[in-house]
Amino acid sequence: MILEETVPTELVIRGAHVLDPSSGLDGVTDVRISSGMISEIGEGLRGTREIDADGLHLFPGFVDVHAHWRTPGREDEETIETGSAAAAAGGFTGVVMMPNTDPIVDRPVVVSGLVRRVERESRVRARVSAALHVGLAGERLTEMRLLKEAGAFCVSDDGLGTASAGVLRNGMLYARSAGLPVILHCEDHTLATGVVHDGVAASLAGLPGSPASAEDAATATALILAAETGAKVHITHVSTALSAALVGFFKDRADVTSDTTPHHLTLTDDLVSTLDGLYRVNPPLRPDDDRDGVEVALRDGVLDFVATDHAPHASEEKELPMEEAAPGFLGHETAFAALYTDLVLGGRLSLARLVETMSCAPGRWVGEGGTLRVGEPADLTLVDLSEEWAVDLGAMISRSSNSPYWGRTLTGRIVSTIVGGELVHDRTGAGFGVRA
Ligand SMILES: [Zn+2]
Repeated sequence: MILEETVPTELVIRGAHVLDPSSGLDGVTDVRISSGMISEIGEGLRGTREIDADGLHLFPGFVDVHAHWRTPGREDEETIETGSAAAAAGGFTGVVMMPNTDPIVDRPVVVSGLVRRVERESRVRARVSAALHVGLAGERLTEMRLLKEAGAFCVSDDGLGTASAGVLRNGMLYARSAGLPVILHCEDHTLATGVVHDGVAASLAGLPGSPASAEDAATATALILAAETGAKVHITHVSTALSAALVGFFKDRADVTSDTTPHHLTLTDDLVSTLDGLYRVNPPLRPDDDRDGVEVALRDGVLDFVATDHAPHASEEKELPMEEAAPGFLGHETAFAALYTDLVLGGRLSLARLVETMSCAPGRWVGEGGTLRVGEPADLTLVDLSEEWAVDLGAMISRSSNSPYWGRTLTGRIVSTIVGGELVHDRTGAGFGVRA
């Protein structure tokens, strides 16, 4: 993480509405940060450097366990610098980077190189995941013990499902013995032969669809194997009502957690009628029934948290017909606002549950952050819940611009993001009341 030499050792955030379900805080108070840690919470705090946060909300920093920063290999789409700046602009203080890069993160030397680059180039706490299988090919397992020694935080073949249940089972057993969690993208490629969800919208648009069973069958297999092997398994981007229900069934039977994405919670497959490759994503946007089922599962705690699957793509990979476009959306910069606008203001999710699913629960999963308590690292997000802003593709901080929310006006904007006491994103400006 970049640490400026001029970082002051103390900062007092005054008068914010502090909301943190993990510590039970929910009210206006002051927070003192000293030497990168939260040192005092209470009223009437003063400091040599202050942020006047009257009217703003202060949350534990958001944590995103699913991000593609395209480094190494596609730095034209995203770098550690731009990816982490986009994350910070979205209020994220921690991120897990996915290993489907070029070269693929399947050897210790690639892991250790990335870990060193993250230390130099990332504004936020970034963790490196390594591949579960060599070349993501679903055949030969990676040397997980050595990958862990090199600094890998978890293993994943994200972007692809695992073709063979036997191979996946061996992978879980090895990951368990190596002490690494497994993040699984559940997709059966013998069923997922289309480019959008196989439903009414696909039929009307004349596009080849992949049935929901492509995700559901792979999710069921993964959960059964997780229960049997005892591996620590995280199912990412759950997008169907049935997969969410399956996760619920296995919650007490396996060491399993799960997430869904902002786009699967806020968008549906009627967007495929545009035939615009921008809206291609994996798993695909689903019909309303699935979106509803996933939302209820997140609200009820069956699904543990939100992860963005931030997937930058060059415009020449997205400005194409649906069949030819690369799947994936930008996620970091719009995640909170999209969910706040549609779910919280829509009366479907409480603000406290949104903070729990963006901060506390993923923070617990990575073992750092996601809580606002004295003695914890000062990883914080300051938000203006009243600010409306238009998603302008020309103004994205990411190096790419493939946001499915383009042109929409969202409510709720990140004002500042603080990592270890340092302002890594700051829209307050000097006029806002930062006193040096
Ligand atoms: Zn994926």
